[in-house]
Amino acid sequence: MHDVLIVGAGPVGLFLACELGLAGCSVLVLEREPEPRSPWKAAPLGMRGLSAASVEAFYRRGMLDPLHTRSGVHDAPGTRPGAAPATDQSSPPPGVGHFAGMMLDPAKVDFDALPFRLPGPAAGGMLTSLETIEAVLSERASRLGVEIRRGVTVSAVTQDDEGVVAYAGEHPYAARWLVGCDGGRSTVRGLAGFPFVGTEPLFTGYVMLATVAGPDELAPGFNLTPAGMYLRMPAQEYIGMTDFDGGAFDRSRRPSLDHLQTVLRRVSGTGVTLSDVRLVSDFTDRAMQTTVYRLGRVLLAGDAAHIHSPLGGQGLNLGIGDAVNLGWKLAATVHGHAPDGLLDTYTRERHPVGAAVLDWTRAQTAVMRPGPHGRAIQSVLRDLLGTRDGTTQVFAKVSGASIRYDLGGEHPLTGRSAPDLRLEDGTRLGELLRDGRGVALDLSTERRLRDAATGRPGRLRHTAGTAKNDLGLDAVLIRPDGIVAWAGGRGFDPHAFERAADQWFGIPAA
Ligand SMILES: Cc1cc2nc3c(=O)[nH]c(=O)nc-3n(C[C@H](O)[C@H](O)[C@H](O)COP(=O)(O)OP(=O)(O)OC[C@H]3O[C@@H](n4cnc5c(N)ncnc54)[C@H](O)[C@@H]3O)c2cc1C
Repeated sequence: MHDVLIVGAGPVGLFLACELGLAGCSVLVLEREPEPRSPWKAAPLGMRGLSAASVEAFYRRGMLDPLHTRSGVHDAPGTRPGAAPATDQSSPPPGVGHFAGMMLDPAKVDFDALPFRLPGPAAGGMLTSLETIEAVLSERASRLGVEIRRGVTVSAVTQDDEGVVAYAGEHPYAARWLVGCDGGRSTVRGLAGFPFVGTEPLFTGYVMLATVAGPDELAPGFNLTPAGMYLRMPAQEYIGMTDFDGGAFDRSRRPSLDHLQTVLRRVSGTGVTLSDVRLVSDFTDRAMQTTVYRLGRVLLAGDAAHIHSPLGGQGLNLGIGDAVNLGWKLAATVHGHAPDGLLDTYTRERHPVGAAVLDWTRAQTAVMRPGPHGRAIQSVLRDLLGTRDGTTQVFAKVSGASIRYDLGGEHPLTGRSAPDLRLEDGTRLGELLRDGRGVALDLSTERRLRDAATGRPGRLRHTAGTAKNDLGLDAVLIRPDGIVAWAGGRGFDPHAFERAADQWFGIPAA
């Protein structure tokens, strides 16, 4: 019997598999598709924007270099937050993101105002393809002993106090835990009975590879129009658009060329002619989320737990955040050393982040809505995005820099992603997290932290050093997911550190 069964070898399932494999769990991934490759995962249709938070997750596990290499990023990314290296395979609009089709101007982002962010290898976001992300993750998962079985469709799930069984047809797969990472139409979600609630769509969106005649009529990049929004990348013949039809389009059928042309003309306000539609897919802004992320021994992560429109490129980043948050907690539970309630913190921490992303996408839909109300709010927002504070605020949201879990604690760093501190010997904090353990960092001149990990080397790495960046920190306890569990400044209380080590790692004070 495996420790963990993961249903779905998309980016979230694979990232989670790597986290669990790194922590020494036996993992089996079941994936419906027999082949990993698909035109929907390759550029340009499969291009995805990774936020700084996601790039950081790859960096902290030593996967950023392979990701850059495979993505064709030849220059190391900027060491300033927001530097967004694009691949040489595709060239979506440059910048640091958009809100409802209104591009953020990188020059207006005040990177110094982002809380506790430091320059470093993973300070900015990047563009790459799903194919590349999945290839990097699959290779690593295999190296970590994870088994990925393709061409297996899970159609039933049962669970009891001891474990779970997933069935593909008649074939049973047993494990102690199961995580559904099977995407927006998750089978696991329905089979396990997760309540899924939210709001119905206002629009139908389309992405396609197609030829347009009279190309000068369609401006490149994101275009917010009185009737919706369209995105055009001429070099790749990529077109995306949103049609405020109340989500009425029957998505069980392939949209015809005539339909697509009618919508494109209406949305763009032009008379363009479409031809040669080679690939087309549709989506909506339906925004739904499960009320919990765990029912007994079944958990959900990624699109299986939350769906929303792709506006602003958030879904994958949200899912990677789920995987990073869940991995070490589930591994500690599997190994039997998780403190009481640790696994419950997964829903407690990630559900609000998911709910906020759903609202972020709803807000964009409201802004783009055709009519005088939408236009009025667009005008207000353009003014706000014209300011440094406004753009910085939006960037903090889309980059993940604003995420802070409510972990209690007094220090303003607690619950945030740890800054990539550099020690005097050149080591970076991100590198210390590579083996998936937590880090107890003693930066005090007197070395005041007890080595809490003594006798339990698998859970916490104790490191002492002098930080080159002076953030007023003397000691920091960082969880394996890079989140600060506790931080102390000059004159900190060592007992507070010990309580946090016990709370998060089950390491009681000696
Ligand atoms: C046009 C578009 C643009 C986007 N751009 C961005 C972006 O720039 N940034 C961003 O963060 N997000 C973006 N997203 C969202 C992002 O692509 C998704 O959120 C992300 O791919 C979800 O990953 P996942 O692993 O949760 O699910 P998926 O990628 O859907 O993977 C689920 C896997 O489960 C498998 N599966 C399903 N059912 C079963 C079953 N019963 N048994 C076994 N296997 C099963 C599937 O075959 C699939 O491989 C975009 C989405 C769209 C549509």
